[in-house]
Amino acid sequence: MMELFAATACLLCAALFALMLAINRFRIYNKLKEPNNNLCATENTCCGRINSLNGELPAAKLPTRMPTVMPSDEYAEKVVPLSVNYHFTRKCNYKCGFCFHTAKTSFVLPLDDAKRGLELLKNAGMKKINFSGGEPFIVKKGAFVGELVKFCKQTLGVESVSIVSNGSLVSERWFEQYGEFLDILAVSCDSFDADTNEKIGRQQGQKSHLISLRSVRRLCADYKVAFKLNTVVAFKLNTVVNTHNKDENMVEEIMQLNPCRWKVFQCLLIDGENTGPDALRRAESFVITNAEFDEFLRRHKDVECLVPESNEKMQNSYLILDEYMRFLDCTKGAKEPSRSLLDVGVDNALNFSGFDEKMFFKRGGKYVWSKADMQLDW
Ligand code: SF4
Repeated sequence: MMELFAATACLLCAALFALMLAINRFRIYNKLKEPNNNLCATENTCCGRINSLNGELPAAKLPTRMPTVMPSDEYAEKVVPLSVNYHFTRKCNYKCGFCFHTAKTSFVLPLDDAKRGLELLKNAGMKKINFSGGEPFIVKKGAFVGELVKFCKQTLGVESVSIVSNGSLVSERWFEQYGEFLDILAVSCDSFDADTNEKIGRQQGQKSHLISLRSVRRLCADYKVAFKLNTVVAFKLNTVVNTHNKDENMVEEIMQLNPCRWKVFQCLLIDGENTGPDALRRAESFVITNAEFDEFLRRHKDVECLVPESNEKMQNSYLILDEYMRFLDCTKGAKEPSRSLLDVGVDNALNFSGFDEKMFFKRGGKYVWSKADMQLDW
């Protein structure tokens, strides 16, 4: 009789526990569905400031995506934002025809808000931050990115701090002030032929992109910042290819420049950025086939630092933060924004990043990324 009583009590307890769990999860789900939920970035720091940023789009009108499925599973494995790309500005002085982060807004967060977001990311596990654009050196003549670089290295102690730039606005003065805090400066270079650069739009007026490139290379050596080249191979899919650099042989120049890493990726079409009715660019004519991309890679196979990135590898394997600190989900071919991590915290924003962590590791996203650990041969 006692055994029967004990077994019934156990069963009742288990059922009660399961019911409480279900109610709790339903409550979390409904909370996240509320358009103005009060989930804050940290316990006592509900943002609110994003409403008045630079007098541009108020937060209530920000085009943010609301959850359509239960986004927070307390038992699911948590994604750690190990490596983050913060595109804090969309403005640029170049006009590359395939650009996939175009000047759709002129918005830039106030410096203190950007720092607060970076601190949240560091607390969530970020070890590498890359500042990108637009052109990062265009905001306050490089002082904005300089302060962020310094803050991340000196105050937050982030392992790797890097910038992707077109190289045209980088000055020696900037290196004097901020060079010691920077690990990697990646400069985009699609061609060593001035005419090809002009056709692509990779220059400002008559200023030579190649002169800027070589000057930045020298500064990196002088100030001991690892130098990385980013190369876009224009790609045209299923149509007549009208690319400008796919037949170029860049081996000699790359060997001379001797970057620590040469990332070569396929031109990617992103709806709303470089293709589609709302886009500011028409990149279709830049697209090449996979075979052409492979042929370019074969031609450069002896360059040891080459890191190839096909569209498949590239599309969802980057954690991309836009100018409002919203993660951009590219899984459906366009950039769909999460809510700002300043408003909802890193974990909640990450649920809508579309990030493919496995592909991140597969494409070699984690590498020796701190200059302290690199064997730099200047
Ligand atoms: S340099 Fe070219 S690709 Fe880069 S942001 Fe400017 S226009 Fe876009």
